[in-house]
Amino acid sequence: MPEVIKNVACPYCGACCDDLEVTVEDGKILEVKNACIIGTEIYHHASREGRVGSPRMRQPDGTYKDITYDEAIDYTARMLIKAKKPLIYGFGSTNCEGQAAAGRVAEEAGAVLDNCASICHGSSFLAIFDTGYPSCTLGEVKNRADVVIYWGSNPAHAHPRHMSRYGVFPRGFFTNKGHRGRKVICVDPRYTDTARCADYFLQVKQGHDYDLFDAFRMVMHGYADDVPEIVAGVPKEKILEVCDIIKKGRYVHIFFGMGLCHSDGRNHNIDIAINLVRDINEVTKCTIMAMRGHYNIAGPGVVWSWQFGFPYCIDLSKGSHAHMNPGETSSVDLANRGEVDAFINIGTDAGAHFPIRAFEKLGSHIPMVTIDPSVNMAATVSDVHIPVAIVGVETGGICYRMDNVPIQYRAVVPPYNGILTDEELFNRILNRMLELKEQGIECDGKWEYAKAIPSLIPVKLEPEA
Ligand code: SF4
Repeated sequence: MPEVIKNVACPYCGACCDDLEVTVEDGKILEVKNACIIGTEIYHHASREGRVGSPRMRQPDGTYKDITYDEAIDYTARMLIKAKKPLIYGFGSTNCEGQAAAGRVAEEAGAVLDNCASICHGSSFLAIFDTGYPSCTLGEVKNRADVVIYWGSNPAHAHPRHMSRYGVFPRGFFTNKGHRGRKVICVDPRYTDTARCADYFLQVKQGHDYDLFDAFRMVMHGYADDVPEIVAGVPKEKILEVCDIIKKGRYVHIFFGMGLCHSDGRNHNIDIAINLVRDINEVTKCTIMAMRGHYNIAGPGVVWSWQFGFPYCIDLSKGSHAHMNPGETSSVDLANRGEVDAFINIGTDAGAHFPIRAFEKLGSHIPMVTIDPSVNMAATVSDVHIPVAIVGVETGGICYRMDNVPIQYRAVVPPYNGILTDEELFNRILNRMLELKEQGIECDGKWEYAKAIPSLIPVKLEPEA
């Protein structure tokens, strides 16, 4: 008899939609309601035939052989103990319980602990350290914001239900006319599908957002006359028009994304955006929010700040204290400089998303373990691939939405083939490390690959049936 499970939270993007309805029967997912196409696919993926159901170790001929969890855990524990400076990276796609358990393993291993913020909103963290974070919750945007700015972000593709749940279309307590009561402004070099939904589109010259923020700040400070006729490709009259809308707004909110974090200026683009928010608050109410990517990429920032005092790029190799210095202790920089000697890729795909030169140094030069429910590019060059339960589908837990609101995730089906959760796996790795250390296994920088990789050739993943 099919059962409909309501109030299910989606484990894909930082919008963390928690209104999904999932129909299940005999441990299989039949139907998903309310999710966007990306979220729906997560659930159907979980029920597909041919998922990896046990850990696998790469053989010398490049094939993989199934091994037991005990063997995979023993390999990983030995690798972490033997390594002088292992790197444990990822965590965007797991729950806070798994992130906390990994933090304990990293501490025992003297590892560098880092998450996907390192290649995503890490520059936002740097700006927030410098300048503060005048932010709010998504509920406040929905209920109060009558001027919404999407700057360097494209939720129509990256967070597909963001505009309908929070930013543009919903009718809130003080915004009961929905989109008709809001002015939506999009700033982007491209005329995106988000721009198509906006009332005003400012086509900024790629990499010149800082100049445009500067012009906005000049207007807010009363120096409109000194603004040049064109700034960053945007005519002055448009800048003045949008500034006027902002000044007349009751509640202005700015969402920003990779257009600021990944372009020239990086953290300084966010710095100046936050300073603009301060300026606008002299006139009306204004807040700002990072469009965090994965459903729980805000989680490590919260969990590890409790554990270690830092949100990402945490070097625990000194033993006595944690140290954080992005640029020095960030994953890509460590990889590029060849400063780590073992790598765990967990809840992400460094193979797909790191610069290829950095990943080559990790994937083909040092032992590597991938912990992920699926076969991804990192898994195809790892010594060991350990499958785990999918959060929000096969196991629950706490995940932090892009506005740092914790959402309780729930399981809708049991874990495929009895596979472990990330938390269970990291707890067992920690226990095995303690056992091995008691037996006298020590860090000596000598740990063999499980295999020899002839070259780092990206493996073409077969399309799913
Ligand atoms: S918008 Fe994001 S969280 Fe919501 S259903 Fe789509 S992928 Fe899932």
